Amino acid sequence: MAKSKRRYYLLALMGIASVPGLVLYSLVMLGFNIGGIVLASLSVLTLSWIGWEAIGIFRSLSDFNSRFEDGSNVHFHVPQGSVLERIATKMNHYIKKQDDSRQQMQEQIEALDIQVQLSQRQARNTEAIIQSIHDAVIVTDCFNRVIVANSKASELFDFDLDKAQYKQINELLGVEKVAAMIMTAISSKTHHRRNDLEIEIDGQLKFYNSTFSSITDESGEIVGVVSVFHDISREKEVSRMKNEFVSHVSHELKTPLASITAYAEMLVDGEAQDDESREQFLSIIQTQAQRLNRLIEDILNISRIESGLVKVKKDRASVAMLIRDSVEMIKSYAAEKSISVIEPNSVVYDQVNVDKDMISQVIINLLSNAVKYNKPGGTVSISVEVLEDLISVKVTDSGVGIPSDEIGHVFDKFYRVSSNDKVAKGTGLGLNLVKQIVEKVHGGRVFVESVEGEGSTFGFELPLCATEETAVI
Ligand code: ADP
Repeated sequence: MAKSKRRYYLLALMGIASVPGLVLYSLVMLGFNIGGIVLASLSVLTLSWIGWEAIGIFRSLSDFNSRFEDGSNVHFHVPQGSVLERIATKMNHYIKKQDDSRQQMQEQIEALDIQVQLSQRQARNTEAIIQSIHDAVIVTDCFNRVIVANSKASELFDFDLDKAQYKQINELLGVEKVAAMIMTAISSKTHHRRNDLEIEIDGQLKFYNSTFSSITDESGEIVGVVSVFHDISREKEVSRMKNEFVSHVSHELKTPLASITAYAEMLVDGEAQDDESREQFLSIIQTQAQRLNRLIEDILNISRIESGLVKVKKDRASVAMLIRDSVEMIKSYAAEKSISVIEPNSVVYDQVNVDKDMISQVIINLLSNAVKYNKPGGTVSISVEVLEDLISVKVTDSGVGIPSDEIGHVFDKFYRVSSNDKVAKGTGLGLNLVKQIVEKVHGGRVFVESVEGEGSTFGFELPLCATEETAVI
């Protein structure tokens, strides 16, 4: 900057310095006469004026140059009345226009920058929303390319989420029928489609409710599809269990009812000739009616507990007392099969906060099964153990036992061990009721151990009451 300024001044000085030379040259040439002097004076004045103007121009140019390089307030400054004034005004006007449009462009760039940042944030938000959805989501464009997918989708269809974007949907998804459904949703021009899907994952059949919703632009043209896959396997399982329960219940109710109806009809028709036959028929009717009653009672109890409608009346109780009362009730039944019942050892503290009727029902169910599935002359022994803040009750029998592959099912509703079917009749609801009462109503735990042909141990654990009182046995 300083260098170019110096150059302008040098030029101006050279111009001024050349003036005396020119005057001298003019005087010599014109022979020093009056006309020559006047002419020489005029030349001097003219040249001085030109020199002065030149200095002004050099100064303006130099000033402009430094402002231009600084980028600050760029315009020409020329002395008023200078020959360059008009040009400078025009130049300044042009520079101002350039400045204004540069300013406008700068503002537009800043606005665009903000827009880009906003769209990036919106895209990140949309992505975060899609990622947080519990269902599998895939968004595709009108060329069937993946625009966005969430981790649930990558887990379900087993693809690499990081490499999924812009891939063709049929190349990405291993499940051909799903890719076909998405592609049909684009081509069919329907705005909303629903399909039930069955997909095998790790050898397990899973059920999905899939929806394909089209994305449209301002002109209503379909430009993409949002595909959502909602796992309904649990709902399917619950509905299957409900159906199974209803068909089991109706089947179980039908059997004793059919028996009652048949024997009652025979009695009405006078088919029982003697007192002994009549008594036998009446006894069957009574047994079947009792069975029906038990069945209905068990079904109602289970469904009341499951639905949370059961009325629970919890009181402090001694486990030993509850066992003693239950053993009393079962003794005559055990005696019929010559089975000896061994009562429990006593423990120091056995207080629990329970619904006495319900826990008595649990103990009676376990004891009656231990007798029912026992061999004549066998034993049933009851033991009680305190494990820190829990009390554990075990009923061990020397009965037929349960095959190892069926043990895991004995607490299921209506489950009856097929090999024990001939040993005793039953509904397959007793142990389920035991489980519901112990686990759902009292927060305890049931358990079973069994060896086929040798016997079984069924039991339950309940939380002990935190108290200083000791048990009364
Ligand atoms: P059930 O009315 O059939 O006795 P439960 O729910 O009480 O129904 O028992 C389910 C099944 O578990 C029974 O059908 C029986 O085969 C088996 N089971 C229960 N208790 C015993 C036991 N102590 N010994 C052997 N098998 C048992």
